[in-house]
Amino acid sequence: MKILFLGTCAADYSPALKTVFKNCFDKDARRSSSVLLDDRILIDCGEHTLESLFIAKVDIRKITDIVITHFHPDHFKPDSINKILEYSENKIRLWVREDAVTSLIQGVEVVKMTPYVTYSLRDDLKVTGLKSNHDENSFPQILFFEDGEKRLLYALDGAWFVNRTFYWLSDKRLSLLVLDATVGDIVGDYRAAEHNSLPMIRLLIPSLKTICAIFEETKVYLSHIAPSLHKSHTETEKIVENDGLKIAYDGLTVEI
Ligand SMILES: [Zn+2]
Ligand SMILES: [Zn+2]
Repeated sequence: MKILFLGTCAADYSPALKTVFKNCFDKDARRSSSVLLDDRILIDCGEHTLESLFIAKVDIRKITDIVITHFHPDHFKPDSINKILEYSENKIRLWVREDAVTSLIQGVEVVKMTPYVTYSLRDDLKVTGLKSNHDENSFPQILFFEDGEKRLLYALDGAWFVNRTFYWLSDKRLSLLVLDATVGDIVGDYRAAEHNSLPMIRLLIPSLKTICAIFEETKVYLSHIAPSLHKSHTETEKIVENDGLKIAYDGLTVEI
């Protein structure tokens, strides 16, 4: 599986995206969170996703599926999805949680995902939506992908894991975990029931190891970083190094 990070920001974007970093990626001027799987499957399509696809020189015509984690504007922008439909050579499938409303998008095949039910994205790739601890009005789900050999959990947006999701992850031995790390090294932030902070992640990781959701070979990348709640990318990398964690950045490719 090849994972390209198109955006790794929470919703507090740098004003420099409109000026100096208009046509390029920068580790400290992150765009709205989104990733591309195996060059064809887009996870989320928010504020800057179209821009990021152009900067990363992705062949947009090859996109076949768009999977939406939830309906906050940094993850779901109908205009951008409609533009991708114009470029695409394929009949695009739009994957959303079963109760989500998608009337703003026409000309796609909408696939409604029942939580904890596994669907075939392609012959060798399956996806399961898991309940997330996030604003329930945004129909949130975190996404588990498996291709027979490797397993990816894209866990944003959300704080901790809800009970059923946590135990569902038992023995999954993830190859890659992408975790919400909106809040920096701060104790007492009010967002503790919708986003993770670094201290929360430090508590969570050993428990995920205990239930064998992750193991020593799991790569863990933090994403959905709020620049206003974190230090610079380089400083944050150093802060989490001792915890065995990595910070995702726009334009990063991870192969598992
Ligand atoms: Zn978000
Ligand atoms: Zn959100």
